[in-house]
Amino acid sequence: MRVYTSSGCLEHDPGPDHPDQPRRLSAVLDALRSAPNITLIKPNPASIDDALCCHDSAYLHRAAALSRSGGGELGADTTLSRNSWPAVLAATGAVLGALDHAITTGEHAFAAIRPPGHHALHDRAMGFCVINQVAVAAAVARQRGRERVLIVDWDVHHGNGTQALVENEPTTHFVSMHQWPWYPGTGAANERGVGNCFNLPMAPNLPASAYVETLWRGIELATTHWAPDVILLSAGYDAMLGDPLGGFTLEPEHYALWVQRMRERFADTPIVGLMEGGYAPARLAAGVLATVQALR
Ligand SMILES: [Zn+2]
Repeated sequence: MRVYTSSGCLEHDPGPDHPDQPRRLSAVLDALRSAPNITLIKPNPASIDDALCCHDSAYLHRAAALSRSGGGELGADTTLSRNSWPAVLAATGAVLGALDHAITTGEHAFAAIRPPGHHALHDRAMGFCVINQVAVAAAVARQRGRERVLIVDWDVHHGNGTQALVENEPTTHFVSMHQWPWYPGTGAANERGVGNCFNLPMAPNLPASAYVETLWRGIELATTHWAPDVILLSAGYDAMLGDPLGGFTLEPEHYALWVQRMRERFADTPIVGLMEGGYAPARLAAGVLATVQALR
């Protein structure tokens, strides 16, 4: 089982009080290194051109220049340091490496990255996110001939950026379960895009089985008479019990259960997971490890 990652992703430093700390990823990498049959792969970083499928060129160059000049505020809650732009390109490159492997071989893959991406909009950083890696991956998958891309976003926050980037794209189905009402405020059930968006807003503090079954029903609904030919997981782990930024109650085994069900329902369809949120490092690491082991 291949996990794509880069030490460059550790170099993004949004400041000591910011939730997206480098130790999030180092905890994940420690857990993956200690597990059997997991190979860590360092792919090439992405280029700005790779992100133009989803983002405004002037915005990307502004982010790069801000980072190069030493950093600063790029958008709401999104602070760059000098090494942030290389980290963002390393993260996007890891996702594209995992996608390329999955499309080329049919094997599942995972990208262990930071910063996350699912709040990033066409021309705006938001919610710790700079490049929307899952939307870029969906666009690249379509360019490479995939005709039915399923995005499953199980981060506790709504993937507003992803939705904005795919809501007019009928060949991509987007399923998101998220806490409601909660940051960023989007993701109501009646936000349907062109019929391709499936939003599942949920109250906090429910039994884990409520979240497990609701997301699964959403996946079934999104794939009725529509079989995906690639699956992208916007895999956030801030929906786990104890996360400081969410109120859901999931445990590592629930991520493994979703993956197992997807593998059964969508046999022979490659699955590419990529890290989004998750702000209790030990919990995040356990969640990623359970996901990767279920993909293996
Ligand atoms: Zn989140």
